[in-house]
This record gives sequence, C-alpha cells and structure tokens, in this order.
Amino acid sequence: MERIRVNTGRKYDIFIERSILSSCGQIVKSVTKASTAAIVTDSNVAPLYLQKVKESLEKEGFKTVSFVFPAGETNKTIATVTDILNFFAENSMTRSDIAVALGGGVTGDLTGFAAAIYMRGIEFVQIPTSLLAQIDSSVGGKTGADLPSGKNLCGAFHQPSAVIIDPEVLKTLPTKFFSDGMAEAIKYGCIGDAELFEKIAEGIDTENADSMIYRCVDIKREIVEHDEKEKGERMLLNFGHTLGHSAEKLSNFTLTHGEGVGIGMYIMAKAGEKQGVTEKGSSEKIAELLKKYSLPLSCDISLQDLCSGALTDKKRSGNNINIVLLNKIGSAFTKKLPVEELYDFVR
Ligand code: NAD
Ligand code: ZN
Repeated sequence: MERIRVNTGRKYDIFIERSILSSCGQIVKSVTKASTAAIVTDSNVAPLYLQKVKESLEKEGFKTVSFVFPAGETNKTIATVTDILNFFAENSMTRSDIAVALGGGVTGDLTGFAAAIYMRGIEFVQIPTSLLAQIDSSVGGKTGADLPSGKNLCGAFHQPSAVIIDPEVLKTLPTKFFSDGMAEAIKYGCIGDAELFEKIAEGIDTENADSMIYRCVDIKREIVEHDEKEKGERMLLNFGHTLGHSAEKLSNFTLTHGEGVGIGMYIMAKAGEKQGVTEKGSSEKIAELLKKYSLPLSCDISLQDLCSGALTDKKRSGNNINIVLLNKIGSAFTKKLPVEELYDFVR
C-alpha cells in the first residue's frame, strides 16, 4: 500500500491500493473515535460500491447510515447540501461522528462542505471513485457547491481525516470521465513532472494507472502544503483552467471540465511559445497527448469570446488576471496580466 502524508493545518494520510475499498473500515477506524459513519454517495456509485463500504465500516464496529443523491453536476447545489445536513440531523449525528464521501468530485465537494458546516464542523473521509476525484478534488481540502450564477461559488476549506483511493473502481467509470481525469493528469505532468508526462504518453488505462495516480496526488500534496489557502503557488494547479472554465461555461457545459482544460492548456502553451517563454515544441507534445486521450484541441467558441469569458473568472484579482505559463513540459510559473491584455497575449 502506498501512503502519502499531507502536512496541512490538519494533517492526514492518503492511502492508495487496489481493492482497498473492502478494507476501508480499518483505515477509517484508525483515524477517528466516531461511532456513527454517514456515507454520502450518488445514484450511480451507490449500486456499485455502497454495500462494500458499508460492510467494511460495520465490520469495524461503526453504525452506518447512507444518503444517496441523484448523480450529476446539476445536483451540486445548496439544496443537496441542505438535504445532507438534514439527513445528518435526522440521524442524530453528533460532533464526534464522521461523514464518508464515496464518489466523484461532486460527492466529495458536497459531503466535505456539509461536514464543514454541520455543527460547525465534523470529520470526514474521502473515498474518491472517479479519476478526477482520485488525483485532484479529494486532496487539498476545498469543498463547496455551485450557485445559479456560477460553479463553486460557495464553499469552505475543510481537510479530510483520510483519503482512501482504490484504482480498481476506475474499471466501472465511463470512458468519457476517464478522459476527463486524464486532462488533469496531463496538467500535473506539464506543471510539475516531465517524467510523468512521458509515462502518460506511453499509455495509461484502468489497469496501470496506480503509479500515475500516486505521482499526481504527490504533486498536488506538495503544492497544497506550501499554499493551503491558494495565495500563490497553488495557482499553478490552474494551468489551462482560466480559458478552460470559460470554454466549459460558454458551451453551456456541453464541453466537460477536462475538455475545457485541455483546450486551455494547448492555447496557453502556444501563447507561451509565441511569447518566447515556453520551450518550442511543448504545445505540440500537449496536443499529441490530448488526442491520445480523446480530448479536443479546440472548440467552436472564438478565442476572443474565450478571453472575455475568462474575465469573470474567480481567479481574477482587481484589474489583473493571473495566468499560468510553462517554461517547458514539467515546469510552470504564474504571470499577472492586466485583463485587457489577455486576448493580445494568447492571440
Ligand atoms: P462526478 O462526481 O459527477 O463524477 C462523474 C460521473 O462518474 C458521475 O456520473 C458519477 O456518478 C460517476 N462515477 C464516479 N465514480 C464512478 C465509478 N467508479 N464507476 C462508475 N461511475 C462513477 O464528477 P467528477 O468528474 O468526479 O468531478 C467533477 C467535480 O469535481 C466538479 O464539480 C468540480 O468542480 C469538482 N472539483 C473539485 C476540486 C476540489 O479541489 N475540490 C478540484 C477539481 C474538481
Ligand atoms: Zn480542474
């Protein structure tokens, strides 16, 4: 079993092992004194893995209760958070009980947020089941929900007590969500590890993803440790995201997050090459990987619109926008740009 310690304000471990799901109860037991574990999961993941997790927790002596919400980003709302909170209350969860998020990023964000505010904060454990959640959203302590005006507009920083990653569950993940996660993996290669980038180029699938997951999580750990509340270095994780979010939004979410990020990474790498700050050939390498994992390089939204769309980005500060550029594959830096210069910069 691989184990990664995250030294944030609240310290916790990330456990990675194939088939670890059936012994997740032991790990939960080792991090909490709780007597009740409330498992929160979505309607796709519940029929696949809820029973296994429940049994393992009960075997370790936990009383379990389970809450299943309808799957999908459209349910990542305050209304679902309210439902989860009411469920906790109706089941007499106390401050010393624990929530268990079993599912993708939507489940993790909602459960973490509910755990952050129920009785001013209870413990929670992440059991991420999508590739994106395993390498990205389950680590770092960001939790939240969407508002009608935009994604992730409310939330809290709340670190989990443990993250339990079972690569085996990726076998049931629909291919398009696997590709989505691969966009983030490519991002980690771009910003932090040329060797990882090469490994991804050789070919990753559900059978051999374990070491890639480990490496991605470790890169995120390092960045998050240095910058828990996203003041500086953590912005590197936004490589490709400024234009990516804009593409997602302007397509009315017909483009997935990973697709948007892929398009954004390609544009920023090309822009960096044109500006002479990114090693020549980097954008071509990124393009090859995106194609390999069935991710698009462009969309039918104009670059001008993508840039205008990006100006409402959360990452904007005053009249400036922080963009992430590559020196070369494996190394990135941030640059502050007056908002009106973004289009000229990437054009
Ligand atoms: P998701 O939770 O909707 O999962 C994607 C789909 O896969 C869902 O239909 C889900 O039911 C299904 N699924 C998950 N695991 C499965 C499995 N093993 N087998 C079969 N089906 C499975 O979305 P996601 O792509 O995991 O995550 C996206 C969300 O994560 C977004 O809301 C995004 O804002 C958030 N996010 C948060 C952070 C953070 O730091 N908190 C970082 C990145 C993304
Ligand atoms: Zn992302």
